[in-house]
Amino acid sequence: MCGIFGIVGHEDAARLTYFGLYALQHRGQESAGIAAWNESEGACQLHAGMGLVPDVFREEDFRLLAGTTAIGHVRYSTTGKPQLRNAQPLLVRVRNGIQIALAHNGNLTNAAALRRELENDGCIFQTTIDSEIFVHLIARALSGASLEQAILAACRRVEGAYSLLIMSEGRIYAVRDPHGFHPLAMARMDGAWVFASESCAFDLLEADYLGEVQPGEMVIAEPGAETCRRVHLREDALPVRQCIFELVYFARPDSRIFGEDVYQCRKCMGRNLIRESMADAECVVPFPDSGIYASLGVAQEAGVPYEHALIRNHYVGRTFIQPSQSMRQFSVRVKINPVRSMIENRRLYVVDDSIVRGTTIRTRVAKLRELGAKAVHFRVSSPPIKFPCFYGIDFPSPADLIATKYTPEQIADMLGLDSLHYLSLEGLLASVSEPGHYCTACFTGDYPTALPEVRDKMSLEYHRKGDVRFQS
Ligand code: AMP
Repeated sequence: MCGIFGIVGHEDAARLTYFGLYALQHRGQESAGIAAWNESEGACQLHAGMGLVPDVFREEDFRLLAGTTAIGHVRYSTTGKPQLRNAQPLLVRVRNGIQIALAHNGNLTNAAALRRELENDGCIFQTTIDSEIFVHLIARALSGASLEQAILAACRRVEGAYSLLIMSEGRIYAVRDPHGFHPLAMARMDGAWVFASESCAFDLLEADYLGEVQPGEMVIAEPGAETCRRVHLREDALPVRQCIFELVYFARPDSRIFGEDVYQCRKCMGRNLIRESMADAECVVPFPDSGIYASLGVAQEAGVPYEHALIRNHYVGRTFIQPSQSMRQFSVRVKINPVRSMIENRRLYVVDDSIVRGTTIRTRVAKLRELGAKAVHFRVSSPPIKFPCFYGIDFPSPADLIATKYTPEQIADMLGLDSLHYLSLEGLLASVSEPGHYCTACFTGDYPTALPEVRDKMSLEYHRKGDVRFQS
């Protein structure tokens, strides 16, 4: 996952992009970068680094990034290694010295095949991320075509998930793939055009939300223009398949994405969840922060008190990125600690949004038992995750997903739960306003595109020699 932000026609473009990225930090903590277009110099500058937004940028960087149009990116790696060379935006020089900066959220499913084809044709890749494929496809299509036509040609070659911001000569081209997997919205602020993965970035800048870039659409924003041009990527429309996991977990609850209020959606998931699975419990306890909003729905629907009986330490990174299982378990303990007096002798609903490997639930439920919980009824506000995601959500390989190996009953037995219930797919879809417009492949295995030939997030880190794969 990644977060992207862009602004066209504002004298403080880079600094506003910095704030926008700050609001999108939850979408990626590995690297951050901003590219800005300086009209008076007729050139783009880029600053990117590893780490969190406030650690990557210093005051002097904004002098370098002077200009009226900027795009930015926060990265969470779903292809390629966490390295500076893979940080975005990518900035390249193409024909006639024209510079293009590109920021991408999503995963391309035909990346390996396209990259092989381009390399065989002499392209030299500088990174191991799928996003660089766009740059090469655009550069090649530019012969005798405008940048707009070249972007359209590139989009016709790629498959999979892409929300894109492409900046060149003071303009931004904002693109969402035909299935619309990941969000991208636009807003207006002091005469400038603003784009962001999530609307929470607009709130921070007090920009007026205008709506989404539609699936299969390219919006072209120019400085000083009163309207933006909107172009279809293709003549026929593909079915809209927005990522439902954005609503379950990924997006910020104060955002509006896919036309949904994320907070209300999560509460609705909680209400539907408990309607399906009432038990004899006396209070509702969320796993913070991910379980909080569904828990509110559970508590209100079940008519039982809501308690913050598990306390989150906010200074720990996300647990699932830890390299070893024992480190993962330890960091869950650091991250979530129970309040003994709220647990002892009580019958609890414990709620989280999802179970991936099962580390969080395994580690913390044992602790609730140890502290004397009388009953633990675990409730999950999404269905069992059984299939990998090829569109940009980082789920481990199927062998590491607990729901591929065990049924809910087996998990409940193994963990000593009094009951375990996952929200049904119907219950989940009943929580959104356009149930037919979502990708639910991680729950159903029903993928809306052809699958990648190499299903490994490091696939572009390898090179081929005959049939043997060597890690570079
Ligand atoms: P696990 O401990 O592996 O079962 O992971 C479940 C916890 O990680 C839940 O609290 C989720 O909110 C959170 N989570 C779920 N999916 C992801 C993801 N793709 N990336 C990061 N965290 C996730």
